[in-house]
Amino acid sequence: MQKLLLTISGLALALTMSAQTVSSPDGNIQVNLSVNGEGTPLYNVTFKGVKVIEDSPLGLNTSVGDFTKGLSLQKTGEPTKVEGSYDLTNGKKAHFTFSANELTTTYAQGNNPAFDVIFHVDNNNVAFRYMMHKQGRRQDRLSCMVSNETTAFTMPQGTKTFLCPQMGPQGGFARTAPSYETYYEYDAEMGKNGQGRGYTFPALFREEVQMPTGKKNAKQTQNVWVMLCETGVDGTYCGSRLECKNNQYSIAYPEDAEFGGVGTSAPGIMLPGYTPWRTITIGTSLKPMAETSIMWDLVKPRYEASQNYKYGRSVWSWIIRMDASCNYDEQKEYIDFAANLGWEYILIDALWDTNIGYDRMEELVKYARSKNVGVYLWYNSNGYWNDAPQGPRGKLHLMIERHKEMAWLKKAGVKGLKIDFVGSDKQQTMQLYEEIMADANDYGLEIIFHGCTLPRGWERMYPNFVACEAVRASENLSFGQHDNDIEALAATIHPVLRNAVGNMDFGGSALNKYYSKNNQRGNHRVTSDVYALATAILFQTPVQNFALAPNNLTDAPAWAINFMRSVPTTWKDINFIDGYPGKFIVMARQATDGTWYVAGVNANKEPLTVTIPLTMFSVGQNIKLYLNDNVTTTTVSKKQTITVTIPSNGGVVINN
Ligand code: CA
Repeated sequence: MQKLLLTISGLALALTMSAQTVSSPDGNIQVNLSVNGEGTPLYNVTFKGVKVIEDSPLGLNTSVGDFTKGLSLQKTGEPTKVEGSYDLTNGKKAHFTFSANELTTTYAQGNNPAFDVIFHVDNNNVAFRYMMHKQGRRQDRLSCMVSNETTAFTMPQGTKTFLCPQMGPQGGFARTAPSYETYYEYDAEMGKNGQGRGYTFPALFREEVQMPTGKKNAKQTQNVWVMLCETGVDGTYCGSRLECKNNQYSIAYPEDAEFGGVGTSAPGIMLPGYTPWRTITIGTSLKPMAETSIMWDLVKPRYEASQNYKYGRSVWSWIIRMDASCNYDEQKEYIDFAANLGWEYILIDALWDTNIGYDRMEELVKYARSKNVGVYLWYNSNGYWNDAPQGPRGKLHLMIERHKEMAWLKKAGVKGLKIDFVGSDKQQTMQLYEEIMADANDYGLEIIFHGCTLPRGWERMYPNFVACEAVRASENLSFGQHDNDIEALAATIHPVLRNAVGNMDFGGSALNKYYSKNNQRGNHRVTSDVYALATAILFQTPVQNFALAPNNLTDAPAWAINFMRSVPTTWKDINFIDGYPGKFIVMARQATDGTWYVAGVNANKEPLTVTIPLTMFSVGQNIKLYLNDNVTTTTVSKKQTITVTIPSNGGVVINN
């Protein structure tokens, strides 16, 4: 008996001594776990000792039990160190390494383990996911539906938000929403719930906190930026959004009406099984957001690349000339234009199936190949979930037809597909995305999705994945003047938010003054030509569908065309310099050949003077400075800085 008591007290001691906190390797970020009086597990996050996520609930409500309350901490280990490195030729940086601490904690109802929560904490990010255990008295429940999660992020009072409201299901063009295409709100108060249905990932927050200065007892007010997202979403789960109540942002699942009402809004999982990782990126500047690798650190390739996929610059007639241009002659003109620029691709948009036809498309692809131009073809994703009329339709949503179509695409020599109008985050839709990419890889096809969800780790998970739109993209510059009037705002936020978590098919960098074939009427660009060059660097995707038009060879400045002839689309490194969403941004990217490109944009009404560090160049090195719609050559000063004044709606670009 005495021995037994000793064992029990030994166990109790072990339990109380086990960690309920896990810190980043540098100790700045700490996650603290607890369970409240109702048996709901809670977590909070501190950054340099200041609480940046307040006590927030964890839990899952499932078909095999309500695991949102009545839980107790059953088991917790010690934090373990995890490290890794990998290449990402299609992402924002060619090679990533990471180092983090992980802690796994088991919560139980009675004696039955419900789920583990795994926290992964590196110097800039917190990520966590659930591992649901087998359920049932004999552990014989091997699957479940998750009807909802209580997972939330509770922000301190006074936090400001930079959020993209969720679109209503079956809204937008021909019932194709949601597609992540609303306007961001900048520095908005908390408490709103978007347009009534929350917000899309990624989500950005600015907290004003009292931070120690390092001097004894001294504190100063400082911005702490927090970005929320999720990664590792594939056919085993749905994509989520955030619903806001007061200062709490909770995980919410897709709406029933999405995807034409087909498929459930609640995901089903095998047991034991995992949920996607939810991520929190934290920093006193936007550098950790712009440069984060958390989306890819936590996922693995789902299959081997069938070949060495090639990337590059693409011409795209549709953005300036719209549907009418999708005919043989104009596409041939654009192929010649791509060849003139030395670009790698042409994207032939909607309606080619009827305006050009399959036989003549084979001729056109052959012609493009003779000019060293690869062809991307547009497809309507649709089977039965929207009314978008553009063809080709009904070719990709079912496996048998998809394989037939992809066999033809391979035979014709097509390099990639842009697949439009997929709008939904349901698990069934995630399975479609995944199946399309996996099948396309068998036929050597690269994939761009448009009118679609946010990629959540897909650059690494699917090696033939190129990009998703999931942003209010360049088409809106063609559709309406208002988007032109506020165009520069977007360039100040995407590199630190939407584009920071995944490749972005924006389709920008127009050098036309007007969005029309004759370049004399239509919606007009208020941004400068240097702005167009700057966004070619700021906006990242390995295959860029730029909005340049053949007339730009004669009506755009030669320095701009010459820059675009050699602009890179794949990157070795990234260096965020400065910025504030809605105001300005300056950042640098290093091309795979080692050339550095510094790019900045000013969305303020007034010119903006900024001092830019040039430490990526050497003292005395010749650099080109694109500013005030001109290019000059200068040398890097001893101080390795340059002070420039960027015009309103203008940009700056510096490269060697
Ligand atoms: Ca769109």
